[in-house]
Amino acid sequence: MGRQIRRVPLDFDWPLEQPWEGFLLPARFSEEKCPDCELGSTPARDWLAALVQLLMMLPEDRATTHPYITALARRPSRAPGPEIAELTTGLAGRRGPFGHDSTDEWKAASKIIKAAGLDPSTWGICPTCHGSARTEKYPGQRADAEAWEPTDPPTGDGWQLWETVSEGSPISPVFATADDLAVWMAHPDRGSDWVPQETAAKFIAAGWAPTGAFGPGTHGIVTGVEWTGTQDD
Ligand SMILES: [Zn+2]
Repeated sequence: MGRQIRRVPLDFDWPLEQPWEGFLLPARFSEEKCPDCELGSTPARDWLAALVQLLMMLPEDRATTHPYITALARRPSRAPGPEIAELTTGLAGRRGPFGHDSTDEWKAASKIIKAAGLDPSTWGICPTCHGSARTEKYPGQRADAEAWEPTDPPTGDGWQLWETVSEGSPISPVFATADDLAVWMAHPDRGSDWVPQETAAKFIAAGWAPTGAFGPGTHGIVTGVEWTGTQDD
């Protein structure tokens, strides 16, 4: 796991293993679900997608027994045969070993829309949300969210170990000196995170460590703290 040293106020008391609030996009920026669509498309395009899905299933052997297909009222009595794959592959531009996937279906639908003389980037796109399936709670909310920047925790005289794999959370008490933090990191209670005190001291001096690293002289992967702490600089 990524580890980082932060200098925080001695009385900094953010809960351990809880991401610092300044790193998280505030809830006020979460948008509403679009009231007029499910996935950003109009009902007409949803219907096209449903029918294209059936079409793109036809090259597969299982298609003739699939409930979607057997439910068709005017289902031909004979299987479509390999010829149908020429059509679906032409529409999708490809066909994988397991048949067509949802990307293929999307490409085939786009090609059909184009064949009708329409623009797939506008036809069938929900006019309310313009295809995002979300709408702003107030005008400018999305721009506000894009302009938002995370804020670091306050700085001070204390020493604290943080993990950086999540957004960033403190994982040690705040210590008055770097030595005290190194002693804590070298305590047997640290379990699999334990490192020798000398390694911890070097790591604290270096300030941070990558999540895990390969390096010359290491036997496979080591923790980031261990790797940084064993480098000569
Ligand atoms: Zn919509």
